[in-house]
Amino acid sequence: MSLIVVGTVAFDAIETPFGKTDKIIGGAATYASLAASYFTTDIKLVSVVGDDFPRDTIKDLNRRGIGTEGLQVRDGEKSFFWKGRYHEDMNSRDTLDTQLNVLADFDPVLPESYQACEFLMLGNLSPQVQQTVMDRIEKRPRLVVMDTMNFWMESAWDELMKAIARVDVLAINDAEARQLTNEYSLVKAAQKILQMGPKYLVIKKGEHGALLFHDEQVFFAPALPLEDVFDPTGAGDTFAGGFIGYLARTKDVSFENMKRGIIYGSAMASFCVEKFGTERMLNLEQEEVEERVQEFIDLVQFDITLV
Ligand code: AMP
Repeated sequence: MSLIVVGTVAFDAIETPFGKTDKIIGGAATYASLAASYFTTDIKLVSVVGDDFPRDTIKDLNRRGIGTEGLQVRDGEKSFFWKGRYHEDMNSRDTLDTQLNVLADFDPVLPESYQACEFLMLGNLSPQVQQTVMDRIEKRPRLVVMDTMNFWMESAWDELMKAIARVDVLAINDAEARQLTNEYSLVKAAQKILQMGPKYLVIKKGEHGALLFHDEQVFFAPALPLEDVFDPTGAGDTFAGGFIGYLARTKDVSFENMKRGIIYGSAMASFCVEKFGTERMLNLEQEEVEERVQEFIDLVQFDITLV
């Protein structure tokens, strides 16, 4: 089933306690579409880059079945750039620099071939653009999942609220859920967010797993305890891409299936953090994905008899 992924395609510079990179390929849509590509081959990207962005990377995306007709390449302009530094715990980070560049006046293009999309991933991007994409899809997709971050809460609050009100699933991290609601308790934060419009809320907690809220129900998935975490960048987007990719593959948007989607998303995110940038996400084997999911099942499965 067709899936549109919207978000940044970018250059990142990353500092972690394990090392430092200069400009490498990043971006929310890059990670999300790569993760989704392990579940469905009908993926269409909407984004913008400058002419400094490597053509080979676009070819890498195409090789994974990701359509780039809706990826604009702007002559004489620079791609979005983000620089971040992770703290010792690798769970929290500071943004050192955000250069919007081509993103500053991005007008998303949705080619005719994108119109029949059934699943829409609104990756991290200006909430104004996220809304424009929804406006330009004639028939509302079956499921719209949205991500955002503190940058947009601080710079585009009103537009962000309008975008959130229109989506089915909001997928954000714990710090973002707290910032969005002014609530420390994630349960209270979830109650407030579910009143803003979305029927489902995913709260990503990095190495502490993820929560899925819907009405009065809640589901928790752990993160896999990993020996080495080199770079958490893109883990949230990879999670979201795996989640929606799995739902698109199985064509089932029930709460029960979303629980499985959360496990698949967590499995994909566990690969992402093992190497810097997108490296690990480009060449995974299907069996590796299945083995990871099995590790999740083994991690949480236990028999118990209530006494
Ligand atoms: P994540 O680690 O999943 O939160 O996502 C990291 C990715 O988000 C990086 O590859 C960045 O290029 C991208 N990014 C950082 N800041 C922004 C922003 N303000 N809007 C959209 N994408 C961003």
